[in-house]
Amino acid sequence: MPNIHSCMSLPHDVCRLSRTRRYSVPEKSERTAHAFAFALTGARSRAVHEARAPEVDISRQVAQPAPVPPNARYYCLTPDEAAQIPRQPIAPPRPKRYLGFDRVAQSLRHIAIAVNMTMRERLHVDPLEVQVSVFGGRLHIASNFHADRICDALHLALTDDALMSGAPRRVAPGDERNWLAMVMSRRVRDIAKLRHRYVQGQGFDRMRAAARAEVKQGTGLPADGTTGLHSALRQLDDAFATLRNVLRDAASESPQFAEVVVHTPMRDTPKLPALPTGVTETMHAEQCIESAIAENAERWHRDAVTRLHLCPDALIVVPMAGRFVPCAACAEVEAESRTQGGLFDPANARFVLHRSSRRIGMAFANEVQHIAQATLAGTPAEAAQRAKTIAERFVHAPHLLRAYGTPVVLDYSLDTESESSGDESQG
Ligand SMILES: [Zn+2]
Repeated sequence: MPNIHSCMSLPHDVCRLSRTRRYSVPEKSERTAHAFAFALTGARSRAVHEARAPEVDISRQVAQPAPVPPNARYYCLTPDEAAQIPRQPIAPPRPKRYLGFDRVAQSLRHIAIAVNMTMRERLHVDPLEVQVSVFGGRLHIASNFHADRICDALHLALTDDALMSGAPRRVAPGDERNWLAMVMSRRVRDIAKLRHRYVQGQGFDRMRAAARAEVKQGTGLPADGTTGLHSALRQLDDAFATLRNVLRDAASESPQFAEVVVHTPMRDTPKLPALPTGVTETMHAEQCIESAIAENAERWHRDAVTRLHLCPDALIVVPMAGRFVPCAACAEVEAESRTQGGLFDPANARFVLHRSSRRIGMAFANEVQHIAQATLAGTPAEAAQRAKTIAERFVHAPHLLRAYGTPVVLDYSLDTESESSGDESQG
């Protein structure tokens, strides 16, 4: 059984309602939503702790839920406030070549797309976004919504051949901007790659050898080369081996998912009053994974270095990838977590974050954004202060945000399939 941290997802219809209204002219009911959003703009603290759903199948790898931080921060933007973050629209970049450790990130991206698409297509639920990481011999995976269906979706993606029919392997010439055709084509290609490389093993050794050679040449180094070559190669091999084990198990008749850790949103966030129509709340998938790493940092780091016979202070690489590039909120939190004693500050001698793209997605309105506060500093007080700074930037000082004025792919942003991101490219 998978390791599920807890079960709490917003109803699908709430989420859908928010998405379909995101770019529409405000209606009367939305004015209420905006008033609520305004009430949250001070990023106030709340100390209310909600009794969470009981843990499902707690195994030795999974930490107990952490209590809600006493100064948990969050914020919510109105559409007008979100519009105060100017972006530079660009066309989707050309397909990117993934080299070195980025090949691991590419496989994580394929897993995210396979799970995301299969949840929609076969399980009829919308996760909005799925993010995936691999380190310490385990695959970490989270979705914004419906995380309890992730393992079912992964199994189906690798075993249900009906998913592979009805879509061309490549989009027909002239049809590149047809969203549905692109999505169908991509899903089939990505699932096929996972099946061939990892489940059937075709080209697996060649891919791993190529990645090793590239890393040795200094191309596609994990986390900008902070780990050193020996450690980078150990972690590269281990990541590929873990992905192969996980995907072969997931494709089997009775998968155990023993090396999969599923992270569910809203596990340790403060309970808010009932949200108005059109407003949702979430902690995005990558922040859920990162928050869990922060809460278990000592143990998970020790396990990872022991497993690979690395020095006790070796940096463990946390690759992260999803269907979409990180949104403005996640990009801001991740950037902060790389500095000043945050979870991914190399000076801590613990973890470093690896993303194959520095691109930043959109900032969403009418969505309460809970912040993965534990990733921001070593002490709760300092973490709360840094989270407050992030929340205040979004609401009061958008010009200080990483996303401010940066390029964003808006090509598909009016399509209902992609409205949640606006940047699916990984250029
Ligand atoms: Zn996000």
